[in-house]
Amino acid sequence: MAIETPDSGITLAPLDVSKLKVTLTSTPKDIPPAESLKFGKTYSDHMVFITYDPATGWSDPEIKPYAPLSLDPASSCVQFCSNVFEGMKAYVGADGTPRLFRPSLNMRRLERSAARLALPPFDGDVLLELIKRLVQVERRWIPTLSGCSLYLRPTIVGTMPGFSVVPSESATLVVIASPSGPYFSGGVKPVSLLAVSDTVRAWPGGTGGHKVGGNYSPGFLPQKIAEKQGYNMVLWIFGEDKSVTEAGAMNFFVVLKRDEGGLDLITPPLDGTILPGVTRSSCLALAADPSFQKNIASSLHAHERKFTMNDILLWSKEGRLLEALCVGTAAILVSVDRIGYEGSDIFLPKCEGGLGPVGRAFREKILAIQEGKEEFGEWSVPCE
Ligand SMILES: *Cc1c(COP(=O)(O)O)cnc(C)c1O
Repeated sequence: MAIETPDSGITLAPLDVSKLKVTLTSTPKDIPPAESLKFGKTYSDHMVFITYDPATGWSDPEIKPYAPLSLDPASSCVQFCSNVFEGMKAYVGADGTPRLFRPSLNMRRLERSAARLALPPFDGDVLLELIKRLVQVERRWIPTLSGCSLYLRPTIVGTMPGFSVVPSESATLVVIASPSGPYFSGGVKPVSLLAVSDTVRAWPGGTGGHKVGGNYSPGFLPQKIAEKQGYNMVLWIFGEDKSVTEAGAMNFFVVLKRDEGGLDLITPPLDGTILPGVTRSSCLALAADPSFQKNIASSLHAHERKFTMNDILLWSKEGRLLEALCVGTAAILVSVDRIGYEGSDIFLPKCEGGLGPVGRAFREKILAIQEGKEEFGEWSVPCE
């Protein structure tokens, strides 16, 4: 379906997978052993490359050898950070089929992120077809070692040159791929968090609910300060009441013991300051599923609701705070062993193997679905 612009009568080309041109590299790289992979440091042989021109629309998509981009230094993305991105993973299961995990959610989110920065609109379902083609082309790059995957990074940047603070009418869309080992070296070791409230990651009406590039670099300095003080990541706190929002670039959950038996699983609601994570949504859906509940000895009650640092302090004092979890595509899930807050540390109960029962059940279930060992709805999508 072509995009009609009513006032000009010009017909702009939509993203069209039937126009795909594939150019394979003549110098394929050596694939590093899966055991040596770091997160996001090695890139595969090819990339998806498409441009948008306001006069003609989306270009014929290409899969071509991985290469640097050529950008005008006055480009909108260089000057104003009109950048949006996604993070998703391809896995290869025992049956040899490459699979994506709930990729439509990533496509819907990328459409929303692009719209938030007034970047050109596109059909995420068509982009997903192109991503599947890239995964097929890069099949040999998907590590088969369990816990490893081919991380995919769809990215759209505004390319219109100019210093006027206006939307970019042109754009470049690339999808690059990176064979990846565990996000945190050292496996599922728990992480420590430093609660930070003097800098904020997101605020009401801002862009925290979108995956826009400009959300992340302002977090680098607080991250560096947290590391200097001996913590792994920042726990982002917002507002006078010190609401807990996210940890680093991951969604945050706590697991609490209930007075009447069973467990509460709590994560902050999607009020615009929280990135609507695919992993977050998957944990909430699993928690509500009776067959998943059987993996945990006690019944699990999931809630999306606000909580504060005071709540965490109180729950910890009462001995109810059992687990704190950070979740996201890159690491899937890591548990928290310590939270620094106002000069002292809140310690979480020690768990054997670095994961409590709820964290472990989520992590194992999600990985099994991603690797095609177990089915859950239509979450695992074969690249065919
Ligand atoms: C990407 C991201 C997450 C996790 O989202 P997933 O879809 O689960 O990968 C959480 N918080 C922030 C700020 C993010 O950028």
